[in-house]
Amino acid sequence: MSLPIFTHPSMLAHAPGAGHPESPARLKAVLDALDDAVRAVARGETARAFAAVRPPGHHAEPDRAMGFCLFSSVAVAARAAQAEGMARVAVVDFDVHHGNGTQAAFERDESLFLASIHQMPLYPGTGAADEVGVGNIVNAPVGPHTLRETWRATFAGGLMPALEAFRPDLILISAGFDAHRRDPLAHQSLEAEDFAWATRAVLEVARRTCSGKVVSALEGGYDLEGLGRSAVAHVAALGEE
Ligand code: ZN
Repeated sequence: MSLPIFTHPSMLAHAPGAGHPESPARLKAVLDALDDAVRAVARGETARAFAAVRPPGHHAEPDRAMGFCLFSSVAVAARAAQAEGMARVAVVDFDVHHGNGTQAAFERDESLFLASIHQMPLYPGTGAADEVGVGNIVNAPVGPHTLRETWRATFAGGLMPALEAFRPDLILISAGFDAHRRDPLAHQSLEAEDFAWATRAVLEVARRTCSGKVVSALEGGYDLEGLGRSAVAHVAALGEE
């Protein structure tokens, strides 16, 4: 299938400062790697989409910006989806940092669900397995230097069954690529193909629960080569039938 990719050139204008890892070059790397400078909104019916957005959003809590993030993109997207009639919305967050902002927005609402795999200890310090909200939050922390095989086993066994049990009407992905082995801000071992694998795992659940409806939004990823390759692998998997 052809996969619509949403972005806007004004996001390139958000400049945190020279040397900041959350740089405009990150979005350019993603867009270049996706073989288009800037793509406009694609119209038409589709089950899936990827939003190349920056700054990332998953650390932004409902009432405060935090950790490079101004607004929680996926939390806002979840509420927008509910306004369109999708009652139950799930987020899968594989950014290497815990999505504390998404958790804060979701943790008292049974119609929303968050499954997050992230490195611990690491910024922002939240995301322990015993943070469960009203039974709608699943945190699967992994230690620094976790083997790829262990990361995959944790993702498949720790997150996917709970995602499926939630019976979502729509799945959003907080697609951070900073668990890539080259990333300077964390200490994980993933390769680009691991993100494709994780994407397919989410799609399998989506096909069984919500007619394959998945929308993915870019979060972190601070090594430009690792980010570009991983985003391509993720988007290619997302576009598979
Ligand atoms: Zn991150």
